[in-house]
Amino acid sequence: MRGAMTKMFKIALPDGSVREMPEGSTPADVAAAIGPGLAKAALAAKVDGEVRDIMRPFEGDSNLALITSRDEKDALELVRHDFAHVLAEAVQNIFPGTQITFGPATEDGFYYDFAPAPGRGPFTDEDLPAIEEEMRRVIAADKPLVREVWDRERVRQFFIDHGEAFKAEWVMELPEGEPITMYKTGHGEADWIDLCRGPHLASTGKLDPNAFKLTRVSGAYWRGDPKNPMLSRIYGTAWLNRKQLDEHLVRLEEAAKRDHRKIGQEMDLFHLQAEAHGSVFWHPNGYIIWRQLEAYMRRRLDAAGYEEVKTPQLMDARQWERSGHWGKYRENMFVVPDEIPHASDEEEDDTPVLSGEADLMALKPMNCPAHVLIFNQGIKSYRDLPLRLAEFGCCHRNEPHGALHGILRVRQFTQDDAHIFVREDQLVEEVVAFCDLLDSVYRDLGFDRYAIKLALRPDKRFGTDEMWDWSEQSLRDAVAAAGRNTEEFGWEELPGEGAFYAPKLEFHLSDAIGRTWQVGTIQTDTVLPERLDASYIGEDGAKHRPIMLHRAIIGTFERFIGILIEHHAGKFPLWLAPVQAVVATIVSDADDYAKEVAAKFAQRGIRVETDLRNEKINYKVREHSLKKVPLLLVVGKREAEEGTIALRRLGSEERQLVMTVDEALSMIAEEAVPPDLRH
Ligand SMILES: [Zn+2]
Ligand SMILES: [Zn+2]
Repeated sequence: MRGAMTKMFKIALPDGSVREMPEGSTPADVAAAIGPGLAKAALAAKVDGEVRDIMRPFEGDSNLALITSRDEKDALELVRHDFAHVLAEAVQNIFPGTQITFGPATEDGFYYDFAPAPGRGPFTDEDLPAIEEEMRRVIAADKPLVREVWDRERVRQFFIDHGEAFKAEWVMELPEGEPITMYKTGHGEADWIDLCRGPHLASTGKLDPNAFKLTRVSGAYWRGDPKNPMLSRIYGTAWLNRKQLDEHLVRLEEAAKRDHRKIGQEMDLFHLQAEAHGSVFWHPNGYIIWRQLEAYMRRRLDAAGYEEVKTPQLMDARQWERSGHWGKYRENMFVVPDEIPHASDEEEDDTPVLSGEADLMALKPMNCPAHVLIFNQGIKSYRDLPLRLAEFGCCHRNEPHGALHGILRVRQFTQDDAHIFVREDQLVEEVVAFCDLLDSVYRDLGFDRYAIKLALRPDKRFGTDEMWDWSEQSLRDAVAAAGRNTEEFGWEELPGEGAFYAPKLEFHLSDAIGRTWQVGTIQTDTVLPERLDASYIGEDGAKHRPIMLHRAIIGTFERFIGILIEHHAGKFPLWLAPVQAVVATIVSDADDYAKEVAAKFAQRGIRVETDLRNEKINYKVREHSLKKVPLLLVVGKREAEEGTIALRRLGSEERQLVMTVDEALSMIAEEAVPPDLRH
């Protein structure tokens, strides 16, 4: 007879039922007790909210939710982390002497950083097929992934014995005395092992051998520090099944074709260079798009009762202290000493001499405080509200070079920024008006689908619960009043994702290949008006604080134009295209006629060029198609005699349409002008 009764744990399931399980049992046991289908489908477990191995025993009474492939987000993360281990094992199998370091899951897969064996040189793309093959072998072997708890010294000794200097270095930085988990792939002593927090699937056989692909190799410094040795990073993409992988590969291919950096070069829109990291050099063609977009936005804001302002680039650091940005935001600000440098006495030394004692100025990272300073000029009454101050504000934020990406992520950018100062009773109405304006702008710019999300209070926040209750409810009410709290608009509330001072509405655009981009936002703010002492005289004759709404529709011009390029794959709607039409000649006899046609188009405000080069017409057509010119007007001897043109539209199936110049002009008149100016 046993000495003691087996201890029982109460395991509560999501449906509210509770199962008694003996000590030592695991989530896998619960799954098996429920049914063989679930036992097979369960990948891991959420125990009291924490994702864990399905084979890890319960430690007491617990809340349990089993994770299957239907819990896509959790399942993908688990699978990707498993693939990273399988990759590392495969690499060490084929290339003995390779040292392992770190290998996390990423947004679409995983990577692992390796130190190649001495004398081997870095891994290359040519190594990838053999590694993939070996990974499939490891998966087919269906090796269990077993969690073990070791103490630090044992882990260090293990890695030293196995020639793993990087892992041995790393483990000594983990806190002493805390148990460390090691994951073994396989049963025997000889099997592969890695220091890892987990969790993992129960075995490598749970992975789909056709749901991953190694994508590339790059260099990466050990622990991201250029003073450290350079490692080889092997990237892969990984999914739950082959269908997901294939879809992803198609998306990647499509995204690569639409890459704004590639199209930007083909269309001669802009360039970037190292001398101005993260700041865009707009070329004439690119700046035409900018100017069209800016003029359009300006007309829309004027019509919606905004007043445009312009505020300083540089402000005293003390002003940024008052607004609270200096404390929270300092490392993202470019700082300039408020001092006139004097030249060094020494001839060869041409660096400016600074005292190091001057006051500091900072380039603005945002426009908000400057708009409050405008509001604070003179006394405001309740009748002055709402006051809508708009600025195409050029801001700078100091981002690490590695975080920059084309014109989508830059250090100098121009926002379509505005701040609306409102009374409490005006808030909902203003937010509704904003939602309507934004909806109309997105549709004009070619985006029919977008999602609206309400980001709710985070754990760390300013302000009272009453304030949060009220502002969250106001935004909710506004979206409902605008009729957009529906599935069609992807309406969703995001707990914990608001700013520290206020909840916000986020607007996420869907582009032509199904990617989403958060561009628009509106947020309520009572903190900044308080900090900068903004007030108005109410109907009661007393002073009140206005609420400040921070809002943007397109976000920044740089990023939005990048999104437009990728969304349209460079084939801009006619009104936005940098060059709208090219008149191309077939023979030089038609040169004068081509100039005449171009002049007529230019007279009607069309951005038109002529191509009179002595080249074959097919060559010209190809070249202007590559530059994504929407309209090509081909003229030869016959057209010149008959006063016609042969019109080819970019991407159109029809070969060409022959018509008179006037017919062509009236055909395109409508779409060549911005949508808000059409009849
Ligand atoms: Zn791991
Ligand atoms: Zn703002």
